[in-house]
Amino acid sequence: MVIYRKCLVMIASVVMLVSMLSLSNVVLAQTYSIENVKDNVFRFTAGNYHSVFITTEEGTIVTDPISEDAAKHLRAYLREQNLLPITYMFYSHNHVDHVTGGEILSQDSTQVIAHKLAAQNIAFTKAPTRLVDITFTRNLTVNSGTTSVDLTYHGPNNGLGSVSYLIQPANVLYVVDWIVVGRMPYKDLIGYDITGMINSTKEVLATKDFDLFIGGHASMGTRQDIEHYLDYLETLYSAVKEGMLAGKTLPELQNSIKLDKFSNLKMYDEWLTYNIEGVYKSLINDSYFNFRQDLDTEF
Ligand SMILES: [Zn+2]
Repeated sequence: MVIYRKCLVMIASVVMLVSMLSLSNVVLAQTYSIENVKDNVFRFTAGNYHSVFITTEEGTIVTDPISEDAAKHLRAYLREQNLLPITYMFYSHNHVDHVTGGEILSQDSTQVIAHKLAAQNIAFTKAPTRLVDITFTRNLTVNSGTTSVDLTYHGPNNGLGSVSYLIQPANVLYVVDWIVVGRMPYKDLIGYDITGMINSTKEVLATKDFDLFIGGHASMGTRQDIEHYLDYLETLYSAVKEGMLAGKTLPELQNSIKLDKFSNLKMYDEWLTYNIEGVYKSLINDSYFNFRQDLDTEF
């Protein structure tokens, strides 16, 4: 009986160990993943964040390092795969939840490229990442072997110096934060310039031809997905503006605005009231609705 009990304890321990091991594997698998999405373009996933890397005949191009831990993970993967040295690292914008860890991911010979406003802010705020070597203000094309990447600034939209990337010949568009497909924009739109997001997204749709979109968050998608997202932003912005012009307070706006056409977007139920609050605040901060003498409501 005693032996039998000991056996049971041992079996239970082994089962526990095995389940712990498989659990940690599952957690790891959920945290980091790498997929070859098209031709020489890869998407790196770290939790809710994505960045892109590109393999070319002349070297590897990486984008946002995301965090110290993510940078270590990607660096180890690139070494394991015996890929060519990292020639360029692009920062999408200045926000530290995307650019931290650049000194870990990059190599001595890597050239770091970002928009001038992002580079200035990263240096000024002593962001925990590698400083930028090359800046631009409107447009920059980086060639590497038969691959080219067009970096374009479309004006303010989220943070500072946030740009779009068009990778050719794969024809992949990559944008972080100000285009999000398959999911609602983040909570109360902290750090967003909503009219800027709308203008930048319109400019991208009007000037860029692409087959596949990769975002810094949420899903990959097509031109139609981006059009749906733009439709959401414009509909939301307009609904809140019209509501405020009609004298509605924030709770009244949050109770009355329903945008069911967009209920397919992830986090619709959870974040719609936050998104409404974000637009409401922006109409106060950017358009001074609180100083409107033609409106009776106190915002
Ligand atoms: Zn982000």
